[in-house]
Amino acid sequence: MTLILSGNDYKYELEGVLKLFIPATQFTHISADKIETEDDHVFARQKFTKNKVLLYVICKYNGKKCHKAVLLDVAENPDKTDKELYLSRLLYEALSELTGIKPKWGVITGIRPVKRVNTWLSEGLDKNEIYERLSKDYLCSKEKCDIAYSTAMTQQKILDALDKRSFSLYVNIPFCPTRCSYCSFISQTLDSGRKLIPEYIEKMCREIRQTALITKDLGLKLDTVYFGGGTPTSLEAEQLGTIMKCIEHSFDMSTVREYTVEAGRPDTITEDKLRTIKENGCTRISINPQSLNPKVLEAIGRSHSVEQFYESYELARKIGFKCINTDVIAGLPEDTVESFQATVDKLISLSPENFTVHTLSIKRAALLNQGDKTVLKNPTDDMVDHATERLINDGYSPYYLYRQKNMVGNLENIGWAKPGYESLYNIYIMEEVQTILAVGAGASTKLVDHPNGLERVFNYKFPLEYIKHFDLMIERKKQIRDFYADKL
Ligand code: SF4
Repeated sequence: MTLILSGNDYKYELEGVLKLFIPATQFTHISADKIETEDDHVFARQKFTKNKVLLYVICKYNGKKCHKAVLLDVAENPDKTDKELYLSRLLYEALSELTGIKPKWGVITGIRPVKRVNTWLSEGLDKNEIYERLSKDYLCSKEKCDIAYSTAMTQQKILDALDKRSFSLYVNIPFCPTRCSYCSFISQTLDSGRKLIPEYIEKMCREIRQTALITKDLGLKLDTVYFGGGTPTSLEAEQLGTIMKCIEHSFDMSTVREYTVEAGRPDTITEDKLRTIKENGCTRISINPQSLNPKVLEAIGRSHSVEQFYESYELARKIGFKCINTDVIAGLPEDTVESFQATVDKLISLSPENFTVHTLSIKRAALLNQGDKTVLKNPTDDMVDHATERLINDGYSPYYLYRQKNMVGNLENIGWAKPGYESLYNIYIMEEVQTILAVGAGASTKLVDHPNGLERVFNYKFPLEYIKHFDLMIERKKQIRDFYADKL
């Protein structure tokens, strides 16, 4: 597919809209004032006359053509963003006509739709005005307006109470027992990475101590701790204990309100590990089946059984975990609407405090992307609709939401929570409102200067690189001090 831009440079926005209709496709971009191809193309033109601007798109897709245009008064539409938005809507309407698809998020292509709603709330817009913007300007469906608004409302009280001196600590454990076929995270299998783990932990503890010193000097307060990866419980109980004790001895833990360890894969969970993480202060864990259909688990290479999930969940309750998250993914190969619905129903009957509904995203790095693309055609809409209805009926509210590129059905990932169990860390990272100091390979520190944006400090990606270049990387931590120099 060729995207031909004429009199404009809205490549990023228009390609975003194109991908809603034709995901996982490579586009060629050219600048030209006429169409010189018979192949599929989009021609997007912006043409100024004296007081007017003519915007139009011509689309050719699968042998069919469509043309949409609008004439605007320049004085009434002075901003570039107005014209980008008009052209995006024209493209959306043309592609809807050609494909019969109406993506429910309209022309919102960014990954954080709720951030936009939070900004409008802070500008004083009321519910009707926000719905009007979402539906008229961005062509959002009523159900997506509802979910975005409701998520923003759940977040408001948490965002309002945010202390500017607070921060979260993210601890990355980039190891997994085996690799799931849909995964694009940087994570090493235990087979290849096991021998690195002792030195990895030793270095990471040094990084934790160094980070703690900086935060003490700056007078920052630790608010939440989050162990992610990878699969943190790939480590042995003793290794997890070593890292958690290091955190406890390095930071003032009296201000910590939430402590999460992603246990993730049920095949890594043992009583020993759960007791260790609980004794060391963890208040929230994730146990993620992704599906309770054995055929699906096999197809995605997760190499754990449905029974292992149930056993781990029961064990976690027995040990006393009061906040458990379970993840599912809609759109996985071998799944059907019925089996996805059965997964959701069975999980809800366990009454987890948090429930995260992901939609499959076909990422380039994932093994799944190297073969059959028919998974893109799965009826994920019905799956997600069922989960939404069940969760609302069972008293859950959406509390964070994000989208990724190439999501099946152009949907989203939504974190649901029972009232009072919203994960603070998930909201902070999604809305980019609190500094996250990250340790470990592949972790990136996000220094938030609200509302001006954020600065990132990257660690080396792979465990071996992280170990080898550790001193160089620790040098970069100075950027944290520099960032806060004139802000506290
Ligand atoms: S458990 Fe998570 S991080 Fe590990 S391979 Fe599977 S999807 Fe990737």
